[in-house]
Amino acid sequence: MRNLASPAVIKSILAEKGFRFSKSLGQNFLIDEDVLDKIVDGSGIDENTYVLEIGPGFGTLTQRLCAAAKKVVAVEIDDMAADILTENLAECNNLKIIRGDILKIDLNTLIADEFGDGSKIKVVANLPYYITTPILMLLIEGGFNIDSITVMIQKEVADRLAAAPGGKDYGAITLSVQYRCIATPVAIAPPDSFMPPPKVTSEVIRLDLLTEPSVKVNDEKMLFKVVKAAFAQRRKTLLNTLSNSNAFSMSKDELSQMLENLGIDPRRRGETLSIEEYAKISDNIK
Ligand code: SAM
Repeated sequence: MRNLASPAVIKSILAEKGFRFSKSLGQNFLIDEDVLDKIVDGSGIDENTYVLEIGPGFGTLTQRLCAAAKKVVAVEIDDMAADILTENLAECNNLKIIRGDILKIDLNTLIADEFGDGSKIKVVANLPYYITTPILMLLIEGGFNIDSITVMIQKEVADRLAAAPGGKDYGAITLSVQYRCIATPVAIAPPDSFMPPPKVTSEVIRLDLLTEPSVKVNDEKMLFKVVKAAFAQRRKTLLNTLSNSNAFSMSKDELSQMLENLGIDPRRRGETLSIEEYAKISDNIK
C-alpha cells in the first residue's frame, strides 16, 4: 500500500484524478508522519477498538487506523475523495466507507449497524474546521456509545476547550465540554503538516467522555441557561448579566442575595466562575 502521507503521492493522485482541494469542505490533508503517529498513539486504539473517522479524505489517517483497530467506519462527504479512498485502501478489509454528511447522517443507526455489539467507540479525525463546534457538540451531547474523541482542530479552539476559569479562552463551550469530558492535549501541528497548509496552527486534542457529568445538578438545562446568560455580556458583572437575562424569575436583589448566600461575589464576571460554582447557582436559581 502506498504511504498516503507522502506529498509526492498526493500530488500524483491530484494530477491523475484531476482532484482539486475544496476550501469550503475544509480539505487540508495531513502529510506529517510524526503528527499522524501521535494521533494514533494518543487515541489509545488497539486491535479491539471500533473507530469512527470523520472526513477520511484520501485515507492518510485511515490507513493507519485500519492497521491498529478492529474496524474503522469512515464518513466522507466528498464523492470524488470517497472514490479515491476506496481505490487507495482496497486492501483494508476492516474498513467501511460511508458517503454522507456527518451532521445529517443518522448516527444511532450507523452505530447500531456497523458497531452493533455494544462495544465502545473511539472517534478519531482530522476535522473539517468549518464545522468543528457542531461536530463536537453532536458527539459529546448525542448520548452515543463513544468513550473518546481524538481530533485535530484549530489550536485556538483547542485552547478554548481546555481553558481554565479567568482567561480570555474560557467560555460557554469550555463549560459544555468540561461538563462531559476530560480534555488532554496530544500534539501541535504547524501549517506545513498539511497540504494545502491552513492559515492557522492546529492541535490534536483528546476528549475522554465521562460516564457521569463532572458536576451533579438538579436540572442540566438550567445549568446551561445560567452559563449562556453569564457569558452573554462578557464585560458585565455576574449579577448584571443574570439580571439582564429574561431567563430567570428573580429580581436583581434576590439574585444578589442568592449569590451572596452561595459565597459567590456578585461583582465577579462570568468567565471567572468554575463549573462547580455554576452548578451551585443552577440549583438555587428560579
Ligand atoms: N482525514 C484526511 C487527512 O487527514 O488527510 C482529510 C482531512 S480534511 C481536514 C477534512 C475532510 O472532511 C475532507 O476529506 C472533507 O471532504 C471531509 N468533510 C468535510 N465536511 C464533511 C462533512 N460534513 N461530513 C463528512 N466529511 C466531511
